[in-house]
Amino acid sequence: MPEPNDRDGMKSVSCTRGELLAEASRALRVEGRENSVAPENARTDAIRLVAAALDIPPHSLLVSPETPEGEAACERVQGFIARRLRHEPVSRIIGSRAFWKNDFIVTPATLDPRADSETVVALAGDIIEREGLNDRPFTLLDLGTGTGCLAISLLMDYPTASAIAVDIDPDALAAASLNSDQAGVADRFTARQSDWTDRVSEHVDLVISNPPYIPSADIADLAEDVRNYDPHQALDGGADGLDAYRMIARAAARVAGGGWLVLECGQDQADAVDTIMQRAGHRTAINGRRQDLAGIERALAYRITKASPLQSRSPAGEHA
Ligand code: GLN
Repeated sequence: MPEPNDRDGMKSVSCTRGELLAEASRALRVEGRENSVAPENARTDAIRLVAAALDIPPHSLLVSPETPEGEAACERVQGFIARRLRHEPVSRIIGSRAFWKNDFIVTPATLDPRADSETVVALAGDIIEREGLNDRPFTLLDLGTGTGCLAISLLMDYPTASAIAVDIDPDALAAASLNSDQAGVADRFTARQSDWTDRVSEHVDLVISNPPYIPSADIADLAEDVRNYDPHQALDGGADGLDAYRMIARAAARVAGGGWLVLECGQDQADAVDTIMQRAGHRTAINGRRQDLAGIERALAYRITKASPLQSRSPAGEHA
């Protein structure tokens, strides 16, 4: 348990919620200049961290600042602030991230869900509705599910959907299963350990994925919040960042021939991913390119070509 001293940027033990919040904001703002916690995020980070440390909803923190808190609570807050100053993302400290319409458990085995990825959920939802997939039972396959946030969000929105969610890491699948339970969709969610589609023999209607897409050589230059905390397996997309897309392009026809594919991509990758998909015979869906809130092309949708025996074979050694 960290000591309440100025080593962690907080000088004294406070006694009210309001004082704790003020101290936490100040510590993050002041220390943040050197530690690159963006100063404009200091107060929102502080609200989330203090509320979680006190085990109260953020609004309680704001509406009852006079409520006294004991020393143990102060120490918990200081511990959380010290971790944030070491660049640990807020979601990892509190173990939870709000995504789409739910809160998702985040663990060291999972990528921290980003708001950018909600673009994939939105685009997949548009395809599901436009194509009437939700008029009947349908199955989606989430490749590299992590927290399960993409698949679970779609299961919550579409009651006739079932999902097969694969990940190579059993610890990620454990988190995804907990998340499906918490979201009330566990009965339609199958978590399966698989190296991409290796252990998928079913035919599905829709494939979704936020695959690793950072070029290997760029990982070292990522912000510490990402580099030191997100699993590299979920980030590293090989030499040009596109290995997973080449694999998915081949596998899609086998597992979802004639169906739909919705993918996340990294900044400036949309054209390159498009080329890979077109070469594999998949066709860009109508309105099948979608920007995230920052205006970056982030989600791509394709009509998957029907499988041919040649296309469905995946050359050895090319799994990302
Ligand atoms: N969006 C993540 C980042 O920018 C990367 C996630 C991924 O590779 N799929 O760090």
